[in-house]
Amino acid sequence: MPELPEVETVVRDLRPLLTGRTIAAVRQSKRKLRRPWLPAWNAAATGLRIEGLRRRGKWILIDVARKPTPPGPPSLKGRGEKDIDNSETSEGEQEASRAVTPLPFREGGPGGVGQPALRVHLGMSGQFTVAPAGAPEPDHLHVVFSLDDGHELRLRDPRRFGSAEFFPDRHALDTAMNEDLGPEPFGIDAEYFRTAVRGTKRTLKAILLDQTIVAGVGNIYADEACFRAKLNPGRTGAGLSADECDRLRAAIEAVMTKAIDSRGSTIRDYIGGSGLRGGFQNEFAVYGRTGEPCPACETAIAVGRHAGRASHYCPVCQKDSPQRPQRPQRRAAKK
Ligand SMILES: [Zn+2]
Repeated sequence: MPELPEVETVVRDLRPLLTGRTIAAVRQSKRKLRRPWLPAWNAAATGLRIEGLRRRGKWILIDVARKPTPPGPPSLKGRGEKDIDNSETSEGEQEASRAVTPLPFREGGPGGVGQPALRVHLGMSGQFTVAPAGAPEPDHLHVVFSLDDGHELRLRDPRRFGSAEFFPDRHALDTAMNEDLGPEPFGIDAEYFRTAVRGTKRTLKAILLDQTIVAGVGNIYADEACFRAKLNPGRTGAGLSADECDRLRAAIEAVMTKAIDSRGSTIRDYIGGSGLRGGFQNEFAVYGRTGEPCPACETAIAVGRHAGRASHYCPVCQKDSPQRPQRPQRRAAKK
């Protein structure tokens, strides 16, 4: 459920709390996420310094860096392999994790070549937050990163569609992700978007949900963008004029920007990285408003089904055929 604005909010909330911190230990639940965190990654991630947080589409990327091998004290590997389900964290262990001394930090190669990254997806119900190490643990906690400042970065996910993964080379990860994901919805090239949209007979809803065309849009913002562009989500990409493509592109960017400003939308479980709910759910024009009045014309919002998902739209503002009465012949001639 969390889409780009929610994920961006989590990243913005967590960035100041995590940047510069060192991962002192990692523990995980026995219950598997969709892409499970592997036990071997506990040791791999322990001792890494967090350089920064980024977002790509609906993915959270935590850039981490290896540090020189410390002289003296033994590694934290043993503690890193602890399991949440069958271990109580003792006061002593908590003290030990707080006591980890930050080590001198050496920069990695250009663009993070050879330096690792963690990648997190919030799935349907993921919550990624920072809490004091001693704070009560909620249920459905899957991966916990103990930090060197006495806090923990916690991934909670009741429905377990989310994931946390370790990648040894963030540059390779970025390259692979860029092959799978289209551009971010900010400042998309107009010609690229027209070509991508008009080159398919799929519905606008399907096109917007396709992460290879634009990254980060999900069901909520697809519906909101179509309303803002005054386009029916059931129309086909091939049936759009260049103008309509431009309108849709601008609408996606505007809707995403407004939603980020409101800290995203809280429908069920979503909270930001600081635990605060989003506010954009109060500004939906169509999403989840079936039968309620359209904010523009007061017609009852309708619901249809496209690309296997519910689509909310205004049947008057978003007619299901192009409104170009002055050029009816041209459209017919194309067929
Ligand atoms: Zn309307």
